[in-house]
Amino acid sequence: MPDEWEVVGLATGSRAGDLAGQARRFKPAAVAITDENGRGELAAAMNGRTGVLTGPDAAVRLLDEVDCDCVVLAITGAASLPATMRAVELGRRVAIANKEALVMAGALLMPLAARTGATLLPVDSEHSAVFQALLAGRRADVRRVILTASGGPFRQWSIQQMEQATLDDALNHPTWNMGPKVTIDSATMMNKALEIIEARWLFDLDPDHIDVLVHPESIIHSLVEYVDGSMIAQLAAPDMRTPIQYALTYPHRRPCPAPPLDLCAARSLTLIAPDVEKFPALKLGHDVARMGGAAGAVLNGANEAAVGLFRQGRIRFGDIARLTWRVLDAHPRNDRPTLEELIAADRWARNEVTECRISS
Ligand code: MG
Repeated sequence: MPDEWEVVGLATGSRAGDLAGQARRFKPAAVAITDENGRGELAAAMNGRTGVLTGPDAAVRLLDEVDCDCVVLAITGAASLPATMRAVELGRRVAIANKEALVMAGALLMPLAARTGATLLPVDSEHSAVFQALLAGRRADVRRVILTASGGPFRQWSIQQMEQATLDDALNHPTWNMGPKVTIDSATMMNKALEIIEARWLFDLDPDHIDVLVHPESIIHSLVEYVDGSMIAQLAAPDMRTPIQYALTYPHRRPCPAPPLDLCAARSLTLIAPDVEKFPALKLGHDVARMGGAAGAVLNGANEAAVGLFRQGRIRFGDIARLTWRVLDAHPRNDRPTLEELIAADRWARNEVTECRISS
């Protein structure tokens, strides 16, 4: 939609080559890269125009320097928090793909958005589905929200098989094509735990009113049940372009390049209760959503660190959930944390995971 949209700023962590290509194509006013080494390549791509920001706070400075209507945030992990906070502080329309910022700091972000008038629009496919299904009725009439989960690559594996799962096994997602962190989170089902917490904040839900069903076809993206027993679901092909586009065009709908859903070709749609024993990470979602406070930051930090160790081949697949459990158990409770305390809780959890690993 080049006639309607102008890209005014772009940011990346370290992928200077990709960002340089996009800068040549979209000619933004400014670009940002965390990794200082990318400056030269980007300056060349900007073709003499100024506006190459570098360093750990480059994305936040980009938000300050560039005037825009809409910010799309797709930064993996805790690194997404500062830019998310700033976009909300500035009162922007925020299309949010990274769940970690909400998991860590939903208790700060949502009241801040209410004060500044920022609109948070979910890009996460399940939350986009819930957002759409909530348009069908009044909030007071919602009985519960059901998030669907593909079940990941280990849905039909035994607990014993999963213990021995390799990195390649965990990265082999059956239906979605995503980055490595969220793909491993999907294999442990930690992704769904994080999404329960994300939904709790985005839609101001009681955690007891959020359920999860495993739906291997990834066609029903989530459902809302109303008090009269009616369930409203959103269905689409498993293609992220659909929820990304809806966050951009909401409240309007536009033709999308994602393939249309052929319901007859899908043949059957399966929905089954998740196996919490096999996927202990899933239970953490409800527990942490109920705990509130700094628990989300601890869960997220511990999980990121454990996934990092698994990707380096230093722990087994089953250790990811075990280590995260242990760290969460050991964390000192803080019910009303400040942003600084949340960042400290995240750092503490990462250290604990490394030390637990050494002592176990
Ligand atoms: Mg999702």
